[in-house]
Amino acid sequence: MRIILAVLGLLGASSLMAAPPDGIPRDLARQRAAQISDVRYQLRFTLTPHAPSAAGHEELRFRASYSGAILLDFREGTAANLTVNGLAVLAKIESGHIELPANAIHPGENVVSLDFTAPVAPAGKAITRFEDKDDNTEYLYTLFVPMDAEMAFPCFDQPDLKGRFHLELTAPEDWAVISNTAIESQSPGNSGQRTTVFSETRPISTYLFAFAAGPFRKVHETPGLPGLYVRQSKLKKAQEEAPEVQQITAQGIDYLSSFFAQPFPFPKYDMVMIPGFAYGGMEHAGATFLREESVLFRVAPTHSDHLNRDTLLLHELTHQWFGDLTTMRWFDDLWLKEGFAQYMAYQALASLNPDENIWKRFYQSIKPAAYGIDSTKGTTPIYQDIVNLKDAKSAYGAIVYSKAPGVIKQLAFVLGDEHFRDGLRLYLKEHTYANAEWSDLVRAFERVSGRSLQDWAASWIRRRGMPQVDVVWSCDAQDQIDRFSLTQRDVLGEGGTWPVAMQAGLHYNGRATIHLRGELNAEKAELREAIGKPCPRYVFLNDQDFGYGRFLLDERSRKAVIEKLGEVSDVFERTLLWGSLWDSVREADLAPRDFVQLALRLLPAETDESLAQNLIGHVATALHRYVNPNVRAEIVPQSEALASNQMLHSPSQDLRIIWFRALRAIAESPEGRARLKEVLSGKLAVPGVELRPLDRWTIVTALIALHDPEAEALLATEQKRDNSGDGQKYAYMAQAARPESASKQRYFDDYLHDSSRPEDWIEQSLGPFNYWNQSELTLAYLKPALEALPQIKRERKIFFALGWLNAFIGGQQSAAAQAQVREFLRSAALDKDLQLKILEVSDELDRTVKIRQRYP
Ligand SMILES: [Zn+2]
Repeated sequence: MRIILAVLGLLGASSLMAAPPDGIPRDLARQRAAQISDVRYQLRFTLTPHAPSAAGHEELRFRASYSGAILLDFREGTAANLTVNGLAVLAKIESGHIELPANAIHPGENVVSLDFTAPVAPAGKAITRFEDKDDNTEYLYTLFVPMDAEMAFPCFDQPDLKGRFHLELTAPEDWAVISNTAIESQSPGNSGQRTTVFSETRPISTYLFAFAAGPFRKVHETPGLPGLYVRQSKLKKAQEEAPEVQQITAQGIDYLSSFFAQPFPFPKYDMVMIPGFAYGGMEHAGATFLREESVLFRVAPTHSDHLNRDTLLLHELTHQWFGDLTTMRWFDDLWLKEGFAQYMAYQALASLNPDENIWKRFYQSIKPAAYGIDSTKGTTPIYQDIVNLKDAKSAYGAIVYSKAPGVIKQLAFVLGDEHFRDGLRLYLKEHTYANAEWSDLVRAFERVSGRSLQDWAASWIRRRGMPQVDVVWSCDAQDQIDRFSLTQRDVLGEGGTWPVAMQAGLHYNGRATIHLRGELNAEKAELREAIGKPCPRYVFLNDQDFGYGRFLLDERSRKAVIEKLGEVSDVFERTLLWGSLWDSVREADLAPRDFVQLALRLLPAETDESLAQNLIGHVATALHRYVNPNVRAEIVPQSEALASNQMLHSPSQDLRIIWFRALRAIAESPEGRARLKEVLSGKLAVPGVELRPLDRWTIVTALIALHDPEAEALLATEQKRDNSGDGQKYAYMAQAARPESASKQRYFDDYLHDSSRPEDWIEQSLGPFNYWNQSELTLAYLKPALEALPQIKRERKIFFALGWLNAFIGGQQSAAAQAQVREFLRSAALDKDLQLKILEVSDELDRTVKIRQRYP
């Protein structure tokens, strides 16, 4: 970090404040929010190809309620020529702040002006450079959430100091530039440059301000549809996919405007596809950025892949209201935007595609991660205490993306659809272009429904963990239910009880299911409506997945379900029952081998693509983690044969794709690998399916990981065949799987010390590095990977740390590895949020060790 001193008559040499704090403490944010209002940023950036930084000029206006020193946030750049209300001030950057001295600030409007530079790099900075190796062009884009705007320009980097941004970008004249608002004017500059002025934004939080620049092309010029931009080398591909993307977005805008009773809140809506983008998408106001790979599929896509893409598009779109129009005051309420965006994406999709069984997909995509984290010691309440914004990255994860929408679904069930919708409308209406907290939303629901939600909120929002709900039932001599009692227990054993709402199902042979609504607000309750009903074949407490909690089958029901699962015709029901059985495996209460054998027996007849994909995933997990090597050796040939047969003969193309992926995941014997090589060489074709580059590269990766004798030759061939930008990334990914210690060491050094390596290259190679069969080789990196966590939290984008831990801890299955993780937790001085992340991720390792001990 360089410090540049302003030259003219220095003010503020003596400060009224103590040394500025690191990061943005909540107290500082509160103080500034009380002191400052009416923020306006006038920003000029000059973007130069290949340059390590961008130069800028800023004029910042705001009202102060009293005179006193004020901290601006700014780190990793340089600042000069700072004036405050016309007075020259020392532009000193200290601990990520520039102090505006008290004697320069006065009550009322203040004007700050300065020149600055901000770093630009392939990774680790707020302005990222992507080099397109396909046509040797470059692209620059910003990504600020949660607190990296201050790495691009001096600002008040907290969500509740919304500002109006007026942006001027100077860039090469053949570049397109995109930002939150429409272009106001463009004018030619010197030496092939052009300056673009964007109209001023409505008030938005700093993390929602963005720009992208480079030879982007607009995919279609269809009036009335949202704009979609792509890098020029992918234009043709994008033109094939764009109509669907624009169509679902346009339908989503109509649906959400009417559902929220609020028109689209910003003057325009564009989507920009960014290759290797760190997240699936980021909802900048009026300019969502999407990971290009999430839209333009790199593998042969299934119907589910298309629907997942639609939920991504609708998720980011919902944020325009939920997050951008009305924003959480502080990142402790992150769930307010993420939970609702996630829930509303499914709600919108269910309404736009009534035949798609969308709530089944919600259960499949959302609940496993939610219950996964909530049954670990690393879980947190939905409301997460964040004392300093520099810890906000850790708030992103399954709690806000999975538990929050799961709990919201239960709340919608309790309130009813109309009250739920009216509560959301009221909340948005009362906080347009402003900030709000979770309690504002709860109050809105209470006002429209007349129902107190205080207990509900205290249990579900403020307390961590979840209940396991069990049923005890029996029938009398007349074959009628004479007992039906529900109990709950805290999965973590911390003594909590929750208000649980659910729909219990009494299931029969040859008779319609009886559904009973149940609410369990204490440890124990009788469900009286069940008494006297005909004796069911089995009972499942969470039909239609309204409840949030672990719902295992009682012994009698489980026996009946295992016998009859193949005959359950309702696919949602079937999916829930399989899910419950899998939960029993993870609880070490059902032998993984029994689950695998049941799955292999029923899978050939399973016609639902997403359920088949789920089950195959569970089979692979069980084979690679839970069963012992002898059992695996016995089951693998049968699994390989099934996968290769289904890949060729399944009736639907989606299923053939799923089974191709299954073969790649499971194959390890010489016969299995031979099939994979035949697919790669084209000798064996998956009927009706054209493999895409990443399909091929993942075969090569698997063969390298499994130490196939032909793997290296196949790698060389594939590198010749696909030397595109993507191809180079995938070759890097594939070689991370090489089972050799020297190679592992090179990769590991690269991960921690090569700042020019794009983050998504590293992310994609972490799994292959930690391939399931290489735990002995990778155990040596477990401790160093844990030790690197503080650096990773500091330098990497939001989801990276979790991916890192999942790869390095997830690559292990042994008690020895478990002991190392526990020892590290005991001895290392770690931030609390990192400790929780380790506890969260290592839960799967604990389960693996327990399952292996229980079923040796
Ligand atoms: Zn989101």
